[in-house]
Amino acid sequence: MKSYRKELWFNVPTRRALINITPQVQKCLEESGIESGLVLVNAMHITASVFINDDESGLHHDYEVWLEKLAPHEPISQYRHNKGEDNADAHLKRQIMGREVVVAVTEGELDFGTWEQIFYGEFDGKRSKRVLVKIIGE
Ligand code: ZN
Repeated sequence: MKSYRKELWFNVPTRRALINITPQVQKCLEESGIESGLVLVNAMHITASVFINDDESGLHHDYEVWLEKLAPHEPISQYRHNKGEDNADAHLKRQIMGREVVVAVTEGELDFGTWEQIFYGEFDGKRSKRVLVKIIGE
């Protein structure tokens, strides 16, 4: 069995953003030389997510509105976590959007369902953060 590991780095200039990282994950898969197996992609920070959904701008706007309803950033004082920091909402947003995805690898390709793409969800940006890509198979 082969094994591959890589960290992808992101420094998002805004507090929140959704970034399609499918091309980077595909590049990792090519580098790994693995034809059949599994890819794990996970955020290495507790205020960012990795998830799978559609790359459609209306949907991305809907996520922003929905997440702000569930866990509004302001007022910062509404959260007990915000003692000396201001990112309680980002922890909550990360929880609901998820930590990781697993995608099957078949004949050297990411074996997606229709319209599926992998996203990095940043909820407390303006600093360097990592995503882990781990691929196992043969
Ligand atoms: Zn925090």
